[in-house]
Amino acid sequence: MLQDIFPHSFHNEYINAEPEPESRIVIFEKNHAWMKVDMNKQTAEFPLYREVKSLKATYRYLFAIDKTRFFLAERTEDGPLAFKGLQTASIRELYRYEPGYVKFAAITALQLRNWYRDNHFCGRCGREMEQDEKERMMKCECGNTVYPKISPAIIAAVRNGNKLLLTKYADREYKRYALIAGFSEVGESIEDTVRREIMEEVGLKVRNLRFYKSQPWSFSDSLLMGFFCDLDGDETIRLDRHELSEARWIDREDLDIEFDGISLTNEMIIRFKENDF
Ligand SMILES: [Zn+2]
Repeated sequence: MLQDIFPHSFHNEYINAEPEPESRIVIFEKNHAWMKVDMNKQTAEFPLYREVKSLKATYRYLFAIDKTRFFLAERTEDGPLAFKGLQTASIRELYRYEPGYVKFAAITALQLRNWYRDNHFCGRCGREMEQDEKERMMKCECGNTVYPKISPAIIAAVRNGNKLLLTKYADREYKRYALIAGFSEVGESIEDTVRREIMEEVGLKVRNLRFYKSQPWSFSDSLLMGFFCDLDGDETIRLDRHELSEARWIDREDLDIEFDGISLTNEMIIRFKENDF
């Protein structure tokens, strides 16, 4: 999955630090990042601080990968940007490039950028917020504290003997088969989220919930929790056409899907196909 960056390691504990010459700098323009891209080798890296020192910006510490610290540049002047040897790339474009940890760094940095951007001012009193010195938290004189937005959500693989329930979303760019997915509601256990989402989207009852793995999914500020479960009773699908365009039972032998190394959904379908679940 995207977050599996072994042999590298991700360190997200907050420190109050300034960039050094060899720190990596993340400069976003909307949802594109300025990168050093090598088309021949199909590699991409974030620039070093010493390479973008001319940028008028303040810097926020993001995280470290191994011993390399990553910082977010927040520009202090408007106008077009240009850096020698750098180009902009969307997060999706980065999927094509190596090393894998750069993709994970990019998507994680984007989530933090969005959170800092959206919490500049206090939602309670309207004053300007400031970053706490000890932990990743925005605080206000009025006493309001705001932590990064991480929304729990589920991915559910529903088994029916040798068949797996696959779905397609309605009105989305993503047209490949997926599993049942949805966000937790306030006051709900994660197991109840699984049962509710399956009932809402396809009108089925399930039993035998087993947690598989989780995945931080920064595109939607979510933490996905993957469950396998078994159909309980009638297998007739009653489709919620607002959410899904299609849902069907597919035999294990007919699952036509390749390992992508990115998503929890993909890994769960592959595990079912390989008869592991
Ligand atoms: Zn306030």
